[in-house]
Amino acid sequence: MLSLLTLLACTPPPADTAPAPDDSAIADDSSAVDDTAPVDDTQDTGPHIRPRVILMIGDGMGPGQLASASLYAHGVEGGLFMETLPTHGQLRTASLSGITDSAAAGTAMSSGVKTWNGRVALDRDSQPVTTLVELALSRGRAAGVVSTASVTHATPASFTAHDLSRFSYVDIAEDQVREVQPTLMLGGGLAYFLPAEDERSVRDDEGLLIELSDRGCATVEDAAGLAAAVAAPPTCLVGLFDTEHMTYVLDRPEDTSQPTLTDMSLAALEVLDQDPDGFFLMIEGARIDMASHGNDLERAVHETLAFDEAVEAVSAWAAAHEDTTLIVTADHECGGLEVLGHTQAGDYPQVDWRWGNHTNARVDLFAQGAGVDRFNLNVLDHTWVHAALAAQLTGQALVEPPVVLTPDGSIADHRHAPVPQTRETDFGVGWNQLDALSLDADDRGLAVAVPGVFTWEQNAVVVLLDVDYGAATGLADLDGAITDQDGGVEILLAEMRLDGPGAAGFGADYALVSIGGTEVYADSFSQKAGLRGLTEALGAPDDLWWVRAALNFGEQVRASVAALTPRDGEGFEAVIPWTSLYPDLLGQVPPGATIAATAVLVNTSGDTVSNQALPPFTDAGLAASPPALSGLVLFTVDSDGDGVGDGEAAPVGWP
Ligand SMILES: [Zn+2]
Repeated sequence: MLSLLTLLACTPPPADTAPAPDDSAIADDSSAVDDTAPVDDTQDTGPHIRPRVILMIGDGMGPGQLASASLYAHGVEGGLFMETLPTHGQLRTASLSGITDSAAAGTAMSSGVKTWNGRVALDRDSQPVTTLVELALSRGRAAGVVSTASVTHATPASFTAHDLSRFSYVDIAEDQVREVQPTLMLGGGLAYFLPAEDERSVRDDEGLLIELSDRGCATVEDAAGLAAAVAAPPTCLVGLFDTEHMTYVLDRPEDTSQPTLTDMSLAALEVLDQDPDGFFLMIEGARIDMASHGNDLERAVHETLAFDEAVEAVSAWAAAHEDTTLIVTADHECGGLEVLGHTQAGDYPQVDWRWGNHTNARVDLFAQGAGVDRFNLNVLDHTWVHAALAAQLTGQALVEPPVVLTPDGSIADHRHAPVPQTRETDFGVGWNQLDALSLDADDRGLAVAVPGVFTWEQNAVVVLLDVDYGAATGLADLDGAITDQDGGVEILLAEMRLDGPGAAGFGADYALVSIGGTEVYADSFSQKAGLRGLTEALGAPDDLWWVRAALNFGEQVRASVAALTPRDGEGFEAVIPWTSLYPDLLGQVPPGATIAATAVLVNTSGDTVSNQALPPFTDAGLAASPPALSGLVLFTVDSDGDGVGDGEAAPVGWP
């Protein structure tokens, strides 16, 4: 895999060599590219370029981490250096799994491809995707990664390795050294490279350091070694400063032998900028996330400040060098960190943490240099980071990334207008309201979204799906039809007193449910949310099947202490693979398939129905006992009848 890269890595000319003339540099590129190789073989066009492309990722650095660090250091929000960069936008972060992890977000940034959580530079079908490191190397440019975590950890790995699991650290190290071969790696992770006889090693073989030095790659293990190396920069450098992750800034002794993130970043620029063809560099402040998982505000603040200091140094370097593009962003938020109040600089703000895991919050993006205009005052996603940086590395126009239906709680990626609500919620605006029902589909699955506002721990949104509308399957009427009481969703459905929409040919085959704002990852199941099969072929009314789907909520659509202003197009969203809805068809759909959907808001035990349904309740339907749904959204998901979902045709409301 990617064996041609072996020829290219770690071979920038020595520092004292004059830059190669334009034509020879182009010739190098041509001879290096093999048509059979899985890399972009499009040649540079126009005058030869020397792109200096830098991506800085604060892992887990959401808006709350930025605000807390700024309040602590400067006494105000918005006072960090990175927040002064000229371009400022936001990114949605969700992966195919829902709330992203660092591997899927890293892969989206490194390759432009959305994937499942845990995947390292592999797509949804487990195929390797070309990373920005590989793209740079394939063009004869230098490329490297810097991290305060082990260099084998998810974010740096997503740029320098390919693996089904982010946790296969030994394999990832081998991929880095033997296959991808970046020009530079600086960070922790020595344990994955040392020979077995060294007691710090986790390997059972001779390790990877000899292979690195055989290839002419210098290796260093402390700050002094790094400084010495940079004084006469090697053409290839691997610095591993801890057996595992590098020490938190706050926990480093005064006589630490570990370089700072700023030291490592500037050293990396010295080494990589020797290449007259330019370079790509990813720099990660990794431990903001690790501190946030532990809801450790002090460490999250100091790691964010150390990252900001590195941004300031890199930004100054970038400003002094032509053709430099710098993007600073995060892979995701972590902890649901919210600032509640503050006193003064030097004091930690009062905060609230939602939990010890990642959230779906949008993250900020700051940038300077060429090719970053699209981000300014815009909300995009991680695949755009790849698109912008790949354009800089190739000298070609930015290619807009394809729209991939993603469970991100936003219908910004849906092609069709949703069916709107006409009844004002009787909970009070900003608490519990179903504003619209939106459907879209592609060759992989169905997206169902309900923009609106949902109250934490209260009420449940239920979407009934008939996947073979017109056929005599499914439950025409839910009232008392289900008896399974084995879990929260099952009890809710069993208690739900609701008449079906009364449409000839309607039978609910699946129920998609989220109680109290619960999200579900694509690869896991929850008692409080998920997709359930309702009918004989999909379980039985007294034993509902649990079916895979990813459920997620957009940012700031779940209310807790105060009513929320509804956000246009943001709410609840699920993406359901065709293999879940049509399990016998191996990812196909029945030719010409039409899906019928209807949504309703009920209380957490299911026995009380709100006035919020989509299509909206009629007066008579709402007044009936039990209430009766008034209609359906009909969506022909295979408009050309070829058995492949396309979602081209707009859904229609019935009646
Ligand atoms: Zn994390």
